[in-house]
Amino acid sequence: MVSEEPRSDFIRQLVAEDLRQGRVQPPVVTRFPPEPNGYLHIGHAKAICLDFGIADEFNGLCRLRFDDTNPSKEDVEYVDAIIRDVAWLTGRENIEVRFASDYFAQMYDWAELLIERGLAYVDDQDLDAIRRCRGTITTPGTDSPWRDRSAEENLDLFRAMRAGDCAPGSRVLRAKIDMAHPNMLMRDPLMYRIQFDHHHRTGDTWKIYPLYDWAHGLEDAIEGVTHSLCTLEFATHRPLYDWFLEQLPIDPRPHQYEFNRLNLTHTVMSKRKLMELVERSLVAGWDDPRMPTLCGLRRRGVPPSAITAFCKEVGYTRTDTTNEWALLEYHIRQVLNVETERVMAVLDPIAVEITNWAPDRREQVEVPINPEKPELGMRKLSAGRELFIDADDFMLDPPKKFFRLRPGGEVRLRGLGYLRCDEVLCDDHGRVTGLRCQLDEDTLHGGAPADGRKVKATIHWVDAEDSQAAEVRLYDHLFAAEDPLACADGEDWTTNLNAASCTVIRQARIPSFLAEIPAGTTVQFERLGYFCSDLDHRPEAPVFNRTATLRDAWAKAKGQ
Ligand code: ATP
Ligand code: MG
Repeated sequence: MVSEEPRSDFIRQLVAEDLRQGRVQPPVVTRFPPEPNGYLHIGHAKAICLDFGIADEFNGLCRLRFDDTNPSKEDVEYVDAIIRDVAWLTGRENIEVRFASDYFAQMYDWAELLIERGLAYVDDQDLDAIRRCRGTITTPGTDSPWRDRSAEENLDLFRAMRAGDCAPGSRVLRAKIDMAHPNMLMRDPLMYRIQFDHHHRTGDTWKIYPLYDWAHGLEDAIEGVTHSLCTLEFATHRPLYDWFLEQLPIDPRPHQYEFNRLNLTHTVMSKRKLMELVERSLVAGWDDPRMPTLCGLRRRGVPPSAITAFCKEVGYTRTDTTNEWALLEYHIRQVLNVETERVMAVLDPIAVEITNWAPDRREQVEVPINPEKPELGMRKLSAGRELFIDADDFMLDPPKKFFRLRPGGEVRLRGLGYLRCDEVLCDDHGRVTGLRCQLDEDTLHGGAPADGRKVKATIHWVDAEDSQAAEVRLYDHLFAAEDPLACADGEDWTTNLNAASCTVIRQARIPSFLAEIPAGTTVQFERLGYFCSDLDHRPEAPVFNRTATLRDAWAKAKGQ
């Protein structure tokens, strides 16, 4: 059972304790701070659920803040996509959006303040030299020859950098902390570099751009963030986050807390890797339904509530783990089982002719729209002499345990009645092209056969007249291997892509009414799985994506 209560975790306990002890004055303020350099993936969903979840639970406020401090990789395309994805996942229409670039002037003023206090200096070394002078974990770094410039000289140079009078790469602004600090991030970290790129919001106004460690805490402070939540790889950055805030006239100030990031089997979870798949056309785009991106999952038919439930179950700790893709699928099925309407569709049609029906005979039958929601009532279907069943449900020469249709055998057609196969039509190659069958009149509309005989299987079907051809895309893991990045030295990791991750069926049969549903509607094809009408779906050319199969490996593994 998925509990509706928010699961408590160390971060929620910490926020509650901060409030109880008066260390933090309400409201609790959080932020989700993506860099607009790619699309969001399900790892980001874990952060979003925490940031927005905590704000909700503590009557606080969570903003979406773009960390747009590096114009060379950022784009408005990503900004728009991220806003759309966060709105979709959180179900909020009015998300407060902020941009770090709106704070560039304030950050600049604070940088001048540090310079005036002798806490920052302009370094004329290039990046290579700076790297060489940083030392190692076991040896201290060496001071830059420019470390002891006067505040006046530093101010002049920094202003020249800002004015665009210095070439990119010729100078940087660094904090003056300690070149022997045991935490290498504290060895005079970079605060600004010169960059002449065009920024998607500030245009060409700025010739210098702040680096993450300098910028992030200031952005939090400006927004009154109380709890700045990020993933564990930032834990070593926290002393620097604190150091910058402690040097500035900011009170009260935000604090940073770290949690474990989401890793999933059979996929990759880094924007850089996902971008590579897109740019090398190894997938159809960021929203390819095999991608772990939020837009990919949406296109596949995954409901946002399944992602939220998954994130809740995975939880927040300080230990890095990898979660099973199957656990995500389990939550997808949990939601879709309750939410989706049932329909009968046939993936690999075999024509069936009911020989004891007149050519113009039509029967109306009813099947439940969703057995989990009886209040939705019944769906009316019509059946005529010509039907289709799925090739999987018929075998010419079946093994003993095969209870579906065989020559001379009998099955129940769901909602319709008992069907007996009298004759099999084959082409010149021996391939089955059609079945001639009889339907027992006594068993129509759920009636019992006169002789009390039973059948062991019920199969799905579609009416030939009241159905149409559709394209159905069956998806499997993007990577067959659990860990796609585990490959031999020098080998291209994309060789691990699963060649069978998308199977396209062009001649499936769906009931005609399904062709009319809007794109993005998920239904259950009975006995086959959950399917969602794709963005390419049109009434005259229907397209469905398989969201998930019905088989539930996860529930089985858990013994449910
Ligand atoms: P990637 O590593 O995929 O490029 P990123 O961390 O560079 O992602 P950002 O845009 O900086 O992407 O991320 C915004 C927020 O999302 C950060 O607070 C980050 O900690 C969080 N986040 C990113 N990836 C994950 C993940 N796999 N699990 C949980 N949170 C994540
Ligand atoms: Mg990152």
